[in-house]
Amino acid sequence: MSEIHHLSTQQLIAGLQNKQFSSLELTEHYIKRIDALDSKINSFITHTSQTALAQAKAADEMRAQGDNRMLLGIPMAHKDIFCTQGVLTTCGSKMLHNFVSPYNATIVSNIENAGMISLGKLNMDEFAMGSDNSSSYYGTVQNPWDLERVPGGSSGGSAAAVAAGFVPLATASDTGGSIRQPASFCGLTGIKPTYGRVSRFGMIAYASSLDQAGSLGHSARDCAYLLQPMIGHDPRDATSIKHDMPDYVSDLDEAVANAGDKPFAGLRIGVAKEYFGAGLDSEVEKSVRAALSKYEELGATIVEVTITDPEITLATYYMLAPAEASSNLSRFDGVRFGYRCEDPKDLIDLYTRSRSEGFGPEVQRRILMGTYALSAGYFDAYYTKAQKIRRIIIKDFEDAFESCDVIASPTAPTAAYKLSDDLDSATMYLGDVYTIGVNLAGLPSISQPVGLTSEGLPVGLQLIGKHWEESKLLTTAHLFQQHTDHHLQHSLIAKQSV
Ligand code: GLN
Repeated sequence: MSEIHHLSTQQLIAGLQNKQFSSLELTEHYIKRIDALDSKINSFITHTSQTALAQAKAADEMRAQGDNRMLLGIPMAHKDIFCTQGVLTTCGSKMLHNFVSPYNATIVSNIENAGMISLGKLNMDEFAMGSDNSSSYYGTVQNPWDLERVPGGSSGGSAAAVAAGFVPLATASDTGGSIRQPASFCGLTGIKPTYGRVSRFGMIAYASSLDQAGSLGHSARDCAYLLQPMIGHDPRDATSIKHDMPDYVSDLDEAVANAGDKPFAGLRIGVAKEYFGAGLDSEVEKSVRAALSKYEELGATIVEVTITDPEITLATYYMLAPAEASSNLSRFDGVRFGYRCEDPKDLIDLYTRSRSEGFGPEVQRRILMGTYALSAGYFDAYYTKAQKIRRIIIKDFEDAFESCDVIASPTAPTAAYKLSDDLDSATMYLGDVYTIGVNLAGLPSISQPVGLTSEGLPVGLQLIGKHWEESKLLTTAHLFQQHTDHHLQHSLIAKQSV
């Protein structure tokens, strides 16, 4: 048998059911790897190994007594943006370095109720602002494919932990690409659902109208397993929406059962030239185009579509996201949560120094930009205008979907870059150019691995779906993965035994 951490979630479930291994053995295997190898990656901020081992034992007993919940006893870990009761929840920030949440995020409870076992909390860019995990107060995260390179961000710890074989699955959040871009940089599959599909209750807010939680795994099928318990209406989140509840894994099985030798017959994939413009690395383009040819070979039709100029989308996002962030982050005032400065002179000094010392430079930059955009004299010129353009972006997507079922693009313009490249903020923002439109329009989107560059770095293909069509995205990626093996490649660290 191959090493446990090379098994898919489906194989892990089968292994538990057939008593090939116990949940305790699985959990011990992953914890051993984390203990031996995470010093090279820095993917975890907090370990919950002792609780996890106790939960694994309990899961084995429940299984022996006939509990047949599918995910019972399967290990995973959470991005540190999700509140976990009794466990440190930092959001990657000094501001919350001592915040032990008094309650669980809805998705944390849902995943626990499905029987899964959390091994801890994963590193991330501070307050989810960033694209390479370099803004974390807890240090940079190394990409398990090449330790000199970044894992992507802001869910860099989540992606790195899965790619290193420390957990089979991880939760993540996506405000402008933070699930898809790290999936792309780390050779994983990651899905960002439709806005409103997953409760945001207990997910620390960055930009509330854009934030959405989702799952990361090696394959679309892995992502489907973890996404299933996350979805559903939550009365505690006013933006969560009541909608039909699909069964993602059954949908995949059904799609495979119905697929002939042309599984994509009838599927129209929209390709926009706007997504293949200047700034796109030639090797990334090559792998993405090769994947599109494979889709065609398997029966899909490629159609040309037009979407909003990505530069306009980028500017709109970097106006609205900081505006919402500046409002959301005003609650961190040194009084109610987390960090408080030493010996404040008076109330203003308490606010000012707590925020200056507790927030890192990227977060402060966003708060400044956002506050400016929302200030009385500039509100109409910037914020209102950006909201109007957001409407146009949504309309452009709707028009494009008149002639196609999904839209394909590279997930990011480049593969993982070196930490030593030390990108300035503006250059880093450019890396989000293909992912952020999806959040502005509230659409679901998946990134899947489609090859390696000549330096052996993973490349991701993004598929964007219509609202509520996560299942279509998962099945489209899954059927592709039935005919290709890009998702089965292992990172340098995943190849190491301990
Ligand atoms: N890189 C983008 C930003 O910094 C997206 C982050 C995210 O999706 N959380 O805003």
